[in-house]
Amino acid sequence: MSLSDAVLASLDPEQREVATALTGPVCVLAGAGTGKTRALTHRIAHGVHAGVYQPQQVLAVTFTARAAGEMRSRLRDLGVPGVQARTFHAAALRQLQYFWPQAVGGALPSIVEHKARLVAEAAGRLRLSVDRAAVRDLAAEVEWAKVGMLVPESYAAAARAAGRGTPGGLDAAVVARLLQAYEDVKTERGAIDFEDVLLLTAGILDERPDVADSVRRQYRHFVVDEYQDVSALQQRLLDLWLGERTDLCVVGDASQTIYSFAGASPRHLLDFPRRFPGARVVRLVRDYRSTPQVVALANGLLDRAPKAATRARVELVAQRPPGPPPSFTAYDDDVAEAAGVAAGVRRLLDAGVPAGEVAVLYRTNGQSEPLEQALTQAGIGYLLRGGERFFARQEVRQAVVLLRGAARGDDGSTPLGQLVRDVLASAGWSEEPPAATGAVRERWASLQALAHLADDLAAARPGARVPDLVAELDERAAAQHAPVVEGVTLASLHAAKGLEWDAVFLVGLAEGLVPISFAADDPEAVEEERRLLYVGVTRARQHLALSWTRARTPGGRATRTPSRFLDGLRPASAEDRPAARAARAAGGRSARKEALARTCRGCGAALATAAERKVGRCADCPPGYDEAVFDSLRQWRSATASEAKVPAYVVFTDATLVAIAESRPADTASLAGIAGVGPAKLERYGEAVLEVLHGRG
Ligand code: ATP
Ligand code: MG
Repeated sequence: MSLSDAVLASLDPEQREVATALTGPVCVLAGAGTGKTRALTHRIAHGVHAGVYQPQQVLAVTFTARAAGEMRSRLRDLGVPGVQARTFHAAALRQLQYFWPQAVGGALPSIVEHKARLVAEAAGRLRLSVDRAAVRDLAAEVEWAKVGMLVPESYAAAARAAGRGTPGGLDAAVVARLLQAYEDVKTERGAIDFEDVLLLTAGILDERPDVADSVRRQYRHFVVDEYQDVSALQQRLLDLWLGERTDLCVVGDASQTIYSFAGASPRHLLDFPRRFPGARVVRLVRDYRSTPQVVALANGLLDRAPKAATRARVELVAQRPPGPPPSFTAYDDDVAEAAGVAAGVRRLLDAGVPAGEVAVLYRTNGQSEPLEQALTQAGIGYLLRGGERFFARQEVRQAVVLLRGAARGDDGSTPLGQLVRDVLASAGWSEEPPAATGAVRERWASLQALAHLADDLAAARPGARVPDLVAELDERAAAQHAPVVEGVTLASLHAAKGLEWDAVFLVGLAEGLVPISFAADDPEAVEEERRLLYVGVTRARQHLALSWTRARTPGGRATRTPSRFLDGLRPASAEDRPAARAARAAGGRSARKEALARTCRGCGAALATAAERKVGRCADCPPGYDEAVFDSLRQWRSATASEAKVPAYVVFTDATLVAIAESRPADTASLAGIAGVGPAKLERYGEAVLEVLHGRG
């Protein structure tokens, strides 16, 4: 069998259709685990083996540096080295660095890694008083504006249309001024930011036909993975790379769109066939990743979404043999949950599941703390967020220096694995893992990963020597592609995109976390949260454990309820009885008067973000109101607002509405005690609100 045939033989008929459509526009609309990424890499490999592509003329764009590194090594395994697999950012940066001297002159300005300081200075110039949390929100808003290619003049209208609210507590007109001030400060510093890399590259390609020609001569075939999360700015760049050509293959799953809050949009994916009328559209539905039990849960999750939110949804068809049913567990608090997860991980490891095949996923990075402690106590190694920072670790840097030294003296007389182990031993590595946990264990695990990498390299390329290993490490470091470290992965749901593990624990599945509290007022944001959970569920090949906690801390009030997304999917329990729900809702009521909330109404913690302050609750605390009550209030508000032709917040802000739902005032006097209900509003809406609450005026 020729190499090319072998590449195609491992695909199903639809995947093969993707892999053999080597030219022209191709669009793959497919669900999670159906082999989109596999079809993409095999398509490139087939194109190269068939002599249709020159490897260096292919540009494969992926979503994260890790995914890009993964794609490069998959391609190498398929016998195709030398293909550029990069993120949009990395690809643009390379072009910008190359063409800057000729297009602009001089050296490329330095790139600021964090916007916070520039945003704070810009705010200072405008005499805005903003705290750290507001600066963070505003920095995110600057990014949103820039990936949407908005300028200060166009920002306010676009932000209102997109329902961006008041980032950092500022209204759109003020944010627009801040955008300008931010750009001014940045220019004065002679710096550019992350988005400027794309904006400037697009600008140069747009204005300089000679540069555009040269880039287009270099790259002739384009593929984009995870295309559902492309932003307007990335799309613009892609268009410029393509020019008039159509050799573009995109793959994506609209049900996995999880970055719309940051300005991405699945419309580019969904509109692709319209934009390229001759496009070949291929749908993949066979799920090769997960057991039928996991697939059923994933399908069930989307079945319960509103129709409008599941455009282009793909019903997955499981291909793997059956496995254990997903488990659903309620724990008393986060510490108990972490201990339960650690015990579950231990059982899997004892049953022979490798630690690298286990992941614990959560909604916010702040949730990792109790999990880290529980795993450490259980003597289980872990790595945070897939180990992106691997190459920055001190022990890794030291080992690389030692390996570089050893590369010079490698005369080929000692087997690669042995030689590398000898070198690593001088950096503190030992054959057996240390008894200690925490940092000591993590250091050992990093060095162990380097030893395994040497073994993998020796197996893949017999005859490979230390200089090859060093070259491999350099390449991986440049791509931030960490080798597999022995240990359980702890990652946010966002960071888990595109990846897979034998066993996945999804923790913290309570209202207020999934969906996150600040999404609760916006049906679109709630649907994005549902997709995020869908991404989490579909990461599991075989074992899937879902859990939530009744209280955040041991001894804390048990006010949390399981995520609404699990309704109808988890086995019914006593917690579902309406009486129990009502009792919890009543326990969570609090009728305190608050101005713009600084502390959480649920747990008293300081509120970190503007979104949290807006609703007066931290991301970790579920709302203390009855959802049905809040929903009727919201419906009343939107009807009232549209009748009066004013935005909803003019009637009552979200924070006020939440406070009303929580305290359920019995009469006008108590209603008047709620922040945001002044005399005018009391007179205008008082009776109507009491009627919504109690069915009377
Ligand atoms: P995601 O939406 O999560 O990015 P994906 O559609 O990109 O998923 P892949 O990661 O390419 O899916 O594939 C999922 C798993 O199924 C991988 O382990 C892959 O090797 C396996 N797989 C895909 N296609 C086949 C096939 N035809 N035969 C056997 N295994 C396959
Ligand atoms: Mg994929």
